Amino acid sequence: CLPAPVASGPLPRHRTVGVRVGDVMVGGGAPVVVQSMTNTDTADIDGTVAQVAALARAGSELVRITVDRDEAAAAVPYIKEKLLARGVTAPLVGDFHYIGHKLLADHPACAEALDKYRINPGNVGFKDKKDRQFGAIVELAARHGKAVRIGANWGSLDQELLTHLMDLNAASAAPLDARAVTREAMVQSALLSAARAEEMGLGRDRIILSAKVSAVQELIAVYRMLAQRSDYAIHLGLTEAGMGSKGIVASSAAMGILLQEGIGDTIRVSLTPEPNGDRTVEVKVAQEILQTMGFRTFVPLVAACPGCGRTTSTVFQELARDIQSWISTSMPEWKATYPGVENLNVAVMGCIVNGPGESKHADIGISLPGTGEVPTAPVFIDGKKAATLRGPAIAADFKGMVADYIEK
Ligand code: SF4
Repeated sequence: CLPAPVASGPLPRHRTVGVRVGDVMVGGGAPVVVQSMTNTDTADIDGTVAQVAALARAGSELVRITVDRDEAAAAVPYIKEKLLARGVTAPLVGDFHYIGHKLLADHPACAEALDKYRINPGNVGFKDKKDRQFGAIVELAARHGKAVRIGANWGSLDQELLTHLMDLNAASAAPLDARAVTREAMVQSALLSAARAEEMGLGRDRIILSAKVSAVQELIAVYRMLAQRSDYAIHLGLTEAGMGSKGIVASSAAMGILLQEGIGDTIRVSLTPEPNGDRTVEVKVAQEILQTMGFRTFVPLVAACPGCGRTTSTVFQELARDIQSWISTSMPEWKATYPGVENLNVAVMGCIVNGPGESKHADIGISLPGTGEVPTAPVFIDGKKAATLRGPAIAADFKGMVADYIEK
């Protein structure tokens, strides 16, 4: 007899109120949005335009830029204008700290050009200034019809609120550990600020929340709390994730679990780039998280085995790498010409052990010859053997077959 069926797939999405940012919908059941952030000086108009354009071209559906001083705020409308002239329509988000209220008030063209303002409730002001300065940003957002992200961060957590909660905890009969109090402060910081923004007249359909930490388990706990207690749209991200594989693994682990639980309406993967490194890597990683989990499709997937002692040459690795990079560079053109091409699955396998089987599961796949095998490479299309390639041009021939498949 068959075993009892086990459900696969994510839990139902956490229901949130949709927020329109420019022409992109965040939350309210919309597909999870990929976003990123520039690391240029925003006062450098041409440098920022080039990086926003590169991020948007890579697939970033929202792009955040730092607005930290008058020169940066003054540059924003020109940046927007130049982007539109280049056909880049990705909504722009302004990242404000400390003096956002002043910059937005002094630069109305900046306030108008941006599609969303990011406010950090931990550094918007202290004591009596806090409400006034926070209120000024909220009022400007309402006046210009813009969304805001209220983004708490444990690196700049609201110290008044944290101290208050620590005092309450110390006086409690069953005190929590310090991490639990910090988690609570993160969540309350975001929720209390959001409630205050609503009192000040900003609709819930203009408010997105985030509460970022850099430790995976803490992040998961904080976002679960945030989702349990509200229906605001949620921006998901691990702050200061780190460099290279460490940052990618930590972001994938944390966001993978939360997305599987239905939490998260937009994601940003915060990777520390190499000096002068490619900023678009964070966009590719975010897309790959969403695509490998089955939430969205962006580019054709290439399944490849890791290779082992049965692989006879480097042909297999070279072909897998070649196909992957060929697909990535061809996608902008393919997407315009072949609707649905992003759903393609390609397999490049190293020998007969798993090669034919994996290739049959793909739309088109090749099984290269391993040690001791006849030097031929069967190609499978839609689960059926379609050809047998041999000789030194196997790689080029297979690419030609993939191109034919896409065209058909
Ligand atoms: Fe090794 Fe073959 Fe498995 Fe690839 S498919 S990992 S070459 S046994």
